Amino acid sequence: MAVAESKVVTTCKLLVGGEWVSSSATEFGDVFNPSSGEVIARVPMGGEADVNRAAEAAQAAFLDWAETPIVERARVMFKFKSLLEARYEEIAKLVTREHGKTLAEARASVQRGIEVVEFACGIPSLFNGDILENIARNVDCETVRHPLGVCAGITPFNFPAMVPLWMYPIALTCGNTFLLKPSEKVPLSSMLIAELLMEAGLPKGVFNIVHGGKDCVNALLTHPLIKAISFVGSTNIAKYVYERGTAHSKRVQAAGGAKNHIIIMPDANMDLTSQALQASAFGCAGDRCMAGSLAVPVGEAAEMLMPRLIESTSKMKIGPTDGSDVPDMGPLISAEHVAKVRGFIDAGEKEGAAVALDGRKVKQDKGFFLGPTILDKAKAEMTVVKEEIFGPVLSVVRVKTIEDAIELGQKCPYGNGAVIYTSSGSAAREFKHRFNAGMIGINVGVPASMAWFPFTGWNSSFFGDLHIQGKEGIQFYTQQKMIMTRWFAPSKDDAKFSDPVWKPKG
Ligand code: NAD
Repeated sequence: MAVAESKVVTTCKLLVGGEWVSSSATEFGDVFNPSSGEVIARVPMGGEADVNRAAEAAQAAFLDWAETPIVERARVMFKFKSLLEARYEEIAKLVTREHGKTLAEARASVQRGIEVVEFACGIPSLFNGDILENIARNVDCETVRHPLGVCAGITPFNFPAMVPLWMYPIALTCGNTFLLKPSEKVPLSSMLIAELLMEAGLPKGVFNIVHGGKDCVNALLTHPLIKAISFVGSTNIAKYVYERGTAHSKRVQAAGGAKNHIIIMPDANMDLTSQALQASAFGCAGDRCMAGSLAVPVGEAAEMLMPRLIESTSKMKIGPTDGSDVPDMGPLISAEHVAKVRGFIDAGEKEGAAVALDGRKVKQDKGFFLGPTILDKAKAEMTVVKEEIFGPVLSVVRVKTIEDAIELGQKCPYGNGAVIYTSSGSAAREFKHRFNAGMIGINVGVPASMAWFPFTGWNSSFFGDLHIQGKEGIQFYTQQKMIMTRWFAPSKDDAKFSDPVWKPKG
C-alpha cells in the first residue's frame, strides 16, 4: 500500500526496491486538498537515510535492467501506457484533488504525460549509434549508447503527474534506474502512477520514490551512486541544484521559473487573441511555467484588446474543483501561496499599475482562492513585470512598436516562452528570430514543447546543456562509447604493423 492509514490522516510511504516502506523521517509535512483546505495526507520530510536506502536499491537493480534488451524495456512502457490510459480518469481526479486544477486541466496534463511514455516506446529506433567504415585502412569506427546508472528526478508542485513523467519514462527506457522525489506538496499522483509502473512489469528497484524537501534534495545532489539529476522548479533552486549537483560530478538538467511575454500586434484577430490570452494567463490558475503572464499590446492593440479581455475574464467562474460544479478556475496550492501572490498584486498597485480586475475581491468559505487579476499600464521597472508571480495575475505593458516589445524581452532575465498574436508574416518572422526565449508561439498561447521536442528554456529558465524530453532527453540519460576496430586480414600487407591513427604523414 502506497499510503498507510492512520487514525489522523494517511501517511505517504517510500517506494524502495519494489516495496512501500516507512520513512525514517521524524518530521512530516501536510498535503492539502486546496479546494477545501483539508489535509488529505502527511508526507515524511526524509533525508540522507531514506535516499541511501533508495539509491542502494536502484544501484542493485541497475546492472540487470541495463542488460535487459531495449525492446523489452520499451515493452514495459507499452504496457505502462495502456495502464495509464485505463486509469486516466482516476489519475486526473487525484491530480485535481491534491493540486486544485480543474478536472479538464488535470486530464490534459495526464495526456501530455502519456505522450512522453509514447515517445519512450519508440526509443529503440532512436537509440542507434553511428558507424563510419574505413576511417583508416581496414579500420571501422562506431558509437553506441550506454545508460548512466542511477538517475534522480526532483519535481515541482504545479503538474503532479506530468512533470515527473517528462523524466523517468525516458530515463528508464534508456536503461537507467531512477529515484523520484516528487514535490512534497503533491506526492500522491506519482505514488499512484508508480503502482502502474510495477504492474506493467518493471523489475523491483528500477523505480523508487523518496519524499521530502531541502534535506532530501541535498542528499540526492551529493550521493555518490547518483549519476544524473533532472530538476524542475523555481529559478533560485534550479541554479542551486545545477551548481551543487555538477560540483558533485553529476550531469544536471535544471529547468527554472519564467516570465512569458505575449505580444499583441494591432492586426491580430482581437476576439480570438483575447480568448487565447485569457486561457494562457489564467489556465491552471496561472501556475504554469508557460503561462502568458505579461501581455505586451503594441500601438492601438491595447485599446481593442483590453475591454474584451477584462470583460470576459471578469466572468470567469472561480470555485472548488473537487465537486460537481465545473468552475473555469480552481484554487492555488496553499494559503501561503495565496498570500504571496496577493503581495505581488499589492506591490503592483503601490508601484503605480492600474488594477483593471482585482482578484483579491474573490472570496470562498474555504480553500485557497484568489480571483484573476489584471494589472494594466505596468512599466518595465515594476516588480510585477520583472518577477515571476506564478498565480492568476496578468501584467500589461503597453508599448508603441514591435521593437519596444522585443527590447522589453531582452531585459527579461527568464526565457522560457514568448508568443506573438498577429496576422503579419513579417512581424511574426521578426519576432520568432529575435525574441529572447527558447519556446516561441505564433498565434499559439501556450507553446509548451510536446514529448517529441525538448523543453528548450533559455537564460535563467534553464541551467545545463541538454534539455528535458525529446531526443535531448535521450542524450541526457545516456553516454556514448566510441569503438575503433581493425581485424587483421590474412594478407602479406597486413603482416607489417602500423598504427591506424598515429602513423606519421608522408
Ligand atoms: P520549488 O523550486 O519551490 O520546488 C521544486 C522542488 O525543489 C521541490 O521538489 C522542492 O521540494 C525542492 N526544493 C524546494 N526548496 C528547496 C531548497 N531550498 N533546496 C533544495 N530543494 C528545494 O518550485 P515549486 O514552487 O514547487 O514550483 C513552481 C516553480 O516551478 C515555478 O517557478 C515554475 O516556473 C517552475 N516550473 C518550471 C518549469 C519549466 O519547465 N521550466 C515547469 C514547471 C514548473
